[in-house]
Amino acid sequence: MFVLKNLLLLFAMAVMILSLWPVKRLISELPAGNMRRWWGALRILVLLFICGYFAYTVSYFDSYRGSVDFIVPGIFFFGAVFVFLVTSLSLQTSNAIKRNCELEHECITDPLMEVCNRRYMKIRLQGEFQRAKRYKEPLSIIMLDVDYFKKVNDGWGHQVGDLVLKRLAELIVATVRDSDVVCRYGGEELLVILPHTETAAALIVAENLRLKIANADIIMETADKPSQAIRVTVSLGVSSVCPEIDSVHSLLGQADKALYFAKKNGRNRTMSCSDLEEPERCVKR
Ligand code: GH3
Ligand code: MG
Ligand code: MG
Repeated sequence: MFVLKNLLLLFAMAVMILSLWPVKRLISELPAGNMRRWWGALRILVLLFICGYFAYTVSYFDSYRGSVDFIVPGIFFFGAVFVFLVTSLSLQTSNAIKRNCELEHECITDPLMEVCNRRYMKIRLQGEFQRAKRYKEPLSIIMLDVDYFKKVNDGWGHQVGDLVLKRLAELIVATVRDSDVVCRYGGEELLVILPHTETAAALIVAENLRLKIANADIIMETADKPSQAIRVTVSLGVSSVCPEIDSVHSLLGQADKALYFAKKNGRNRTMSCSDLEEPERCVKR
């Protein structure tokens, strides 16, 4: 019984020491802030417990007065198991939440451009469209296509073409507001959803994008062509919600049409649905 009591104390101490590992992992994985500070404080508490366990074990190692001497080692043991379970489960829960967030992000993100993918675009645009119609709020979209992108691929190869698309997406995300949604519409076409934005304001955003892209040097380094700057231009079509537009389909159709006209009129330009051949279809509000 004497040996059993001491074994219980040593187990309790071992389990408490083991609890430091999930706490350490949690602290290293948490971003700097209050939560990390709290886990830091908890680690100090666990260390104090270990010191207490150690002091008790050393003080009472040789004594045994009967079964009453099992009470404190028992409390120590189950306390240590409790601390170990809570810290391990906290680590597992935090990892599971992180994995879910990553999956959710992957599910809505285009892997090349790292902007929203088409699946998310459809859902988000439908939601924004319904909100704009119901509350009579403005909503605009900008459809953007890279001019002569085939030449980039043909001249530099598809890998460089991919990097150009990535840089373009970064530039667009950095230029628009945080509340705007940048999505990959298809190949080298992007769509920017601009909630609460009238046509006039959307045209300013589109022109700003066009000029920034046209003046941006996209630096590329390949084995045979070291550090060269590539410049591309884009054509943009803008369309906005108005009484004549009754569905997302027709909103996208108008932007596509405006983009087509921007291409037809020489590329590197912005056109809106009010510039189209049938201005009565959609007029500026
Ligand atoms: P324009 O739009 O001015 O009429 O000419 P374009 O040469 O850009 O023609 P188009 O838009 O029809 O062609 C798009 C090209 O973009 C064709 C395709 O190979 C390329 N492309 C589409 N997606 C990707 C991609 O993910 N990576 C790379 N590198 N190229 C892509
Ligand atoms: Mg193109
Ligand atoms: Mg295209």
